[in-house]
Amino acid sequence: MVGDASAALAARWQALQQQLPPATRLLAVSKGQPAERIRALAALGQRSFGESRLQEAEAKQKALADLPPLDWHFIGRLQANKARGVLRRFGTIHSLDNLPLALRLQRIAVEEGLQPRVFLQVKLLPDAAKAGFELEALDQLWPQLQALAPLQLAGLMTIAPLGLDSAGSRALFASCAALAARLGLPELSMGMSGDWPEAVAAGSTWVRLGSVLFGPREA
Ligand SMILES: *Cc1c(COP(=O)(O)O)cnc(C)c1O
Repeated sequence: MVGDASAALAARWQALQQQLPPATRLLAVSKGQPAERIRALAALGQRSFGESRLQEAEAKQKALADLPPLDWHFIGRLQANKARGVLRRFGTIHSLDNLPLALRLQRIAVEEGLQPRVFLQVKLLPDAAKAGFELEALDQLWPQLQALAPLQLAGLMTIAPLGLDSAGSRALFASCAALAARLGLPELSMGMSGDWPEAVAAGSTWVRLGSVLFGPREA
């Protein structure tokens, strides 16, 4: 990477870190970004990276194998046939959105001796473009979702529907926070480039930032 791009990336990372309260961690969403940009952020102290495609992530993890271990989070739509690969490559999954997938992850985690941290993706507003447990389904399935050891239920994840305004995002994130509190889940994966301040105001513990950190994606 040329020096200017690297300096701009470092400046954006530092500015974001300074704006986040101590309780909110920055997940650097590196999908569509080359491994060298991950390396540049790792050199600054960023450890947690989010990827949404298994093959792309595997290639980057191999390219970065010389670094001290990074903390990889899977944030994409998770297909059943990728479950084992994702469990082997990622310590945290943000996008668990249905019970059959949960049971499959549980079985494979037992087989592989893994204890991944998982977020339940929830859909609290209608959104045809997004997956997630709706409130009623989540409440109904909650007894089964609580019994998924060795999966470690970390919290809830949500994505605001496209075009929601700032007040709407705030209200959505606040209701997600209230739901997590009711369920006794400590973590909240909420907030992307366009709405992370609203998510932080509602108590997000993980903001998932791509373009505001890296600039526009190349792929
Ligand atoms: C791509 C992606 C992000 C990051 O998006 P930006 O708007 O570029 O910050 C966050 N979360 C999920 C689930 C994503 O797919």
